[in-house]
Amino acid sequence: MRILIVEDEQAIAQDIACALDAAGFVSEICLNGEDGWYKGGTEEFDAAILDLGLPQLDGLSVLKRWRAEGQNLPVLILTALGNWDQRVEGFEAGADDYLPKPFRMEELVARLRAILRRTSGASTPKISVGSFTLDTNQMRVFNNGQPIHTRMAV
Ligand code: CA
Repeated sequence: MRILIVEDEQAIAQDIACALDAAGFVSEICLNGEDGWYKGGTEEFDAAILDLGLPQLDGLSVLKRWRAEGQNLPVLILTALGNWDQRVEGFEAGADDYLPKPFRMEELVARLRAILRRTSGASTPKISVGSFTLDTNQMRVFNNGQPIHTRMAV
């Protein structure tokens, strides 16, 4: 799965990208709102992680523009701790979830997976077809309960 990261603090963006990579996702980083809005509107992503405080175009404006253009990409917003009014505004603008900064990477990945499960219509983390089972938490495939040893980056 491809995840768009829109975050202007390069160190945080890199940390998120590393955590997503370890969790089996493929990610792309945009360091300002204008680039993030453009990329999210023109390329295929499964979800976006969107910081609100961004240069050129703030995160809320990015989200509002996407939604106005019919871009239904699931969005997890990142906000400074305690900015409840920003969170409310974010939800009203069409965010799917939020995470206050500072946050643990484990929680970010867990929330992202929960969003992806909800938006894909599956309520459990496991999807089975015939003898194959995909565990979306581990991003691993099992055949008759035996793990198939390939890392997935879909
Ligand atoms: Ca920021």
